[in-house]
Amino acid sequence: MKTQVISASRQEEAGTTLGANLIRSGELVAFPTETVYGLGANGLDGEAVNRIFEAKGRPNDNPLILHIAKKSELKKLWSHVPDRAYPLIETFWPGPLTLIFHKADAVPYEVTAGLETVAVRMPSDKTAQSLIRKAGVPIAAPSANRSGKPSPTTAEHVLEDMDGRIPLILDGGECKYGVESTVLSLVGEPTILRPGAVTKEMLEAVIGPVRLAGSILRPLMDREVAASPGMKYKHYAPDAQVIVIDGTPEQTAKCALSMYYDYMEQGKTVEILSTKQTHMRYRGASATMIGDREQPETMCQNLFRSLRDIGSHCDVILAEGIPTDEEGLAYMNRLLRSAGFERVDAEAYVRKNQIN
Ligand code: AMP
Ligand code: MG
Repeated sequence: MKTQVISASRQEEAGTTLGANLIRSGELVAFPTETVYGLGANGLDGEAVNRIFEAKGRPNDNPLILHIAKKSELKKLWSHVPDRAYPLIETFWPGPLTLIFHKADAVPYEVTAGLETVAVRMPSDKTAQSLIRKAGVPIAAPSANRSGKPSPTTAEHVLEDMDGRIPLILDGGECKYGVESTVLSLVGEPTILRPGAVTKEMLEAVIGPVRLAGSILRPLMDREVAASPGMKYKHYAPDAQVIVIDGTPEQTAKCALSMYYDYMEQGKTVEILSTKQTHMRYRGASATMIGDREQPETMCQNLFRSLRDIGSHCDVILAEGIPTDEEGLAYMNRLLRSAGFERVDAEAYVRKNQIN
């Protein structure tokens, strides 16, 4: 299959019209959203949805998110809309918040991977909205990467993973947030299953206390059931090995530099993902500044792109851990998964190796 790429900035009308026709005829279309690129199919057509799992190589017990263009479409997808959903929808839609509740009969089990609940989001990206509106159906879409790889934040990344597997990619340039939506379950107590740009603090300002699913910052324990099936899989892994270094900026930098030269001596190519606060300390080493620790959203924006671009030409990536407040939680959730939870405590390392 030949994969066509159409620029949304130059040919949005033609691109979204073609995309909507493909979606209605059961095909797959990759499209930009404000979080990451999505791989879409008609969300009411089980067979079309199955093609997503094939193209991604996604385990078939990992459910998808339905994307809508009008808030009123939600009531066709849920058994009913619970009261506490309304203030959330009014405040955060369109935007990077996915809500989970009991599904309506119209939603096929292919979308929910057999679950009785369904995840729904209304994206704010103009191209995404236009595509969904023209298709006239909710679009089921996970991130448009091959399963296990970092999510794509540019059309080039989608092409890397999906060339020859899908007929169309709509190119909307670089995604605004760079990490996937916050996933909030409204079944029982409101619980964040996956952190994102809509933070726990922002949600609590609107609906009061919100819980965090247990496995956001750690691997699942033996026999622990994943609140969100996506959490149990290896995720966001670039070609290189990723190691997270936790600590104050000063100790993190000392530890990272020492590890950097150790790996170099072993003949490995290494890159440090630095921050604005530490970058100067890595002079002479190979480091890429990923953002500002004080503004973790800047680090979120660059994470997947850096993992892909840098991961393709080095053996080891040493990445700084940051505090898990606000958007720092989304950052660490993705980074730790990309590292397979391999992390080093900078303070202990510095002490043990007597680095000053
Ligand atoms: P993505 O593949 O990036 O779109 O991820 C969608 C995320 O939402 C995955 O982690 C899924 O496991 C999660 N998800 C979707 N639907 C549900 C649901 N009904 N219950 C729990 N988690 C869900
Ligand atoms: Mg994904």
